[in-house]
Amino acid sequence: MDRPRITIFDTTLRDGEQSPGCSMNVQEKLRLAQQLDRLGVDVIEAGFPIASDGDFEAVQSIAASLRRPIIAGLARACTGDVDRAWQALQGAARPRIHVFLATSDIHLRYKLRITREKCLEQARESVRHAKSLCADVEFSPEDATRTDVAFLCQVVEAVIAAGATTVNIPDTVGYSMPEEYGNLIRTLRERVAGIDKVTISTHCHNDLGLAVANSLAGVQAGARQVECAVNGIGERAGNASLEEIVMAMRVRPDRYPYETAIASEHLYPSSQMLAEITRVPVQPNKAIIGRNAFAHEAGIHQDGMLKNPLTYEIMTPQSVGVPDSRLVLGKHSGRHALALRCEQLGHQFERRELDEIYRRFVVLADRIKKVQDSHLLELIQDVVSGAVSSDVTGRQGKKFPPAAATLPFPRAVSATAGANANDSHPAHVSGSAGQASVSIPFTDHHSEQEDYLWGV
Ligand SMILES: [Zn+2]
Repeated sequence: MDRPRITIFDTTLRDGEQSPGCSMNVQEKLRLAQQLDRLGVDVIEAGFPIASDGDFEAVQSIAASLRRPIIAGLARACTGDVDRAWQALQGAARPRIHVFLATSDIHLRYKLRITREKCLEQARESVRHAKSLCADVEFSPEDATRTDVAFLCQVVEAVIAAGATTVNIPDTVGYSMPEEYGNLIRTLRERVAGIDKVTISTHCHNDLGLAVANSLAGVQAGARQVECAVNGIGERAGNASLEEIVMAMRVRPDRYPYETAIASEHLYPSSQMLAEITRVPVQPNKAIIGRNAFAHEAGIHQDGMLKNPLTYEIMTPQSVGVPDSRLVLGKHSGRHALALRCEQLGHQFERRELDEIYRRFVVLADRIKKVQDSHLLELIQDVVSGAVSSDVTGRQGKKFPPAAATLPFPRAVSATAGANANDSHPAHVSGSAGQASVSIPFTDHHSEQEDYLWGV
């Protein structure tokens, strides 16, 4: 039995990036786009090219480097915007121009100061122009859920006739209720001529915490594309959360018998990478990818989990890429375990980079005992950005606990201990016995000793 395929349209880099504190530079966007490609999203909305030169460049470089996913550029419904979006998409293997225009009376009257007639004309003309450049054109009637339904049907019909291939129905202000949103999609399917030739899309905001519920209601009513963002980031309270949409369908195919192309084991690494780049952490109780999403604290729950994980787990942590929590990274962890965790977090390194990360990791582990993913990601960020190591002297403003420049060595050592490979430590040892002090020079690279100690 073939399940309908749902197109996952990721807008982390456009709508998501518009959320406070989430702006990213071109390099960061490109890195995240590559991760979204690994995750298997169908469409990446890479930016709003006319908004800034940075946005233009980001769309351009993502379009040039990713061949599989469709790359979309956003444009207001006017020639200048559409042309600029098309220019940014020149290198794309599969370009899409995404045109939007508000259609609700409140937006027409107070924001755009145009009549419905003018709105209808502008929508039709801008889509016609986009279509003359690009075969794949999406149109969004902004604030669709507060638009007069008869007028919305009129606009949607006009843009389909003008060549739109996807029609997106945004709940721009997060006002809709699931049943209502589903009914709106149904109404459009019943009343609009030609709608069966295009893909209907959802774009729901989370102002009432209903973005995911509304999107799923839209899918049940016939939408076949969902616009969403990693970690649910987006304007104000955010967008529909990509990971929640995907896993709701995967865990409950009895209610949502639909397929996506998402490689769910990349959900957690994608979430972590976004949090790392934006430095906006994920709330601990966030569904699917929050720190506590698979934590079992209560005794009765732990007891059940030990007897059979199905007692309290509806999906496994591994299925969404959450590393095995019982694998603790500490100073005795080898280079292999570290490399594996880096990989699970979406980072692959060459040997030299891994060497540097490992050096810093061991110093950190010595100090804080248990290295959490957040620590590791911060450390990776420093190495990748070429920051000068300051781990030994403590890092102001960072979450690592402060440490002294020297650490007590817990067993008897002598100044010549380094001569014996079995007892060697990647450190300059001073003092002769008991509570000797150890300081760790970063610039000193004792290769043979380290090969042994940094081990496998
Ligand atoms: Zn939005």
